[in-house]
Amino acid sequence: MRRNYNFSAGPSMLPEEVLLQAKEELMDWRGLGVSIMEISHRSPEFMELTKECEQDFRDLLNISTNYKILFLQGGGRSQFSMVPLNLLGNKKSANYFDTGIWSNLAIKEAQRYCDVNCVASSRDTNYCTIPPKDSWQINDDAAYVYYVDNETVNGVQFPDIPEVNELPLVSDMSSSILSKPIDENRFGLIFAGAQKNIGISGLTVVIIREDLLGHALTITPTMFNYQVHAQENSLYNTSPTFAWYITSLMLKWLKKQGGLSAIAKINARKSQKIYSFIDSCDFYQIDVDPRYRSQMNVVFRLNDDSLTTNFISEAKQTGLINLKGHKLVGGLRASLYNAMPEQGVDTLIQFMTDFAKRYG
Ligand code: PMP
Repeated sequence: MRRNYNFSAGPSMLPEEVLLQAKEELMDWRGLGVSIMEISHRSPEFMELTKECEQDFRDLLNISTNYKILFLQGGGRSQFSMVPLNLLGNKKSANYFDTGIWSNLAIKEAQRYCDVNCVASSRDTNYCTIPPKDSWQINDDAAYVYYVDNETVNGVQFPDIPEVNELPLVSDMSSSILSKPIDENRFGLIFAGAQKNIGISGLTVVIIREDLLGHALTITPTMFNYQVHAQENSLYNTSPTFAWYITSLMLKWLKKQGGLSAIAKINARKSQKIYSFIDSCDFYQIDVDPRYRSQMNVVFRLNDDSLTTNFISEAKQTGLINLKGHKLVGGLRASLYNAMPEQGVDTLIQFMTDFAKRYG
């Protein structure tokens, strides 16, 4: 059996240890004589898992008790509606940063429910930068400020939490959560689909400050109401039990790696290695402003775009898969989430060096 280095933006690579444990436990989970997929989400055993999982999440991100952690379904995109539906209250507008494809889609969805004040946009740079702070325009009478921490498609990341004002700060951390420690207390709400750094698709995690619960618009579908899920400990409807289980394994794996400070060092090293290699080699190019390059999604291209297809197919033969850039951006993208070993990055750099020699 050969395991490839999978650079997919998501669903993405999982740690081998996690996969092996899932395999080991597949037929008989915790001595029940059945798999995790065959038991009730309300069984004491599953509820025990949910408690452990929540505690591990709290420990890793140092989340205080005035925040609820919800384990939901519907992916990041459902959050594009759930955020305005639950946080607008009696306000008529919300602030959004427009820094990439994912913020743009969230804005379009929010516009169904409110006026969107665009704090700043980098659209005219093809989303290759973050607009400077002195250009930000925040409407203080809006309900919240929303930004995408890491733009998965464009490869642009906020280096720090944006300093805004007293309004609740909402962050889409789908592709950066758990990659480094964050000061949770600066946020009103964080959400993330699980299929990158948290586990597999099917589960979406929402971390919400308690005072933001209970203000949903009357039109909010029950399944989209955070308070309902908070009251029911995320067991309001049948949960994606297998996805939740994989998350529980991922969190334990992460703790074993030394938690978020340890993984942050590895992540910084991995992305630095590849960015400095590309900067030193005029065969490849990066369009993203160096100050805002993503640590998770390295978006780059070949100077000679006609070689891209060869690059992707030869990389695949070497065991380096899913390097094709998103269709809206083109070029190449290497996603380096927590589960990508440093050796995967070294192998990619080696391949890129050889490829440049052969075609340069
Ligand atoms: N936000 C970001 C930053 C993403 O990367 C993605 C998916 N790649 C989404 C939202 C949408 O997530 P989903 O496909 O789970 O709805």
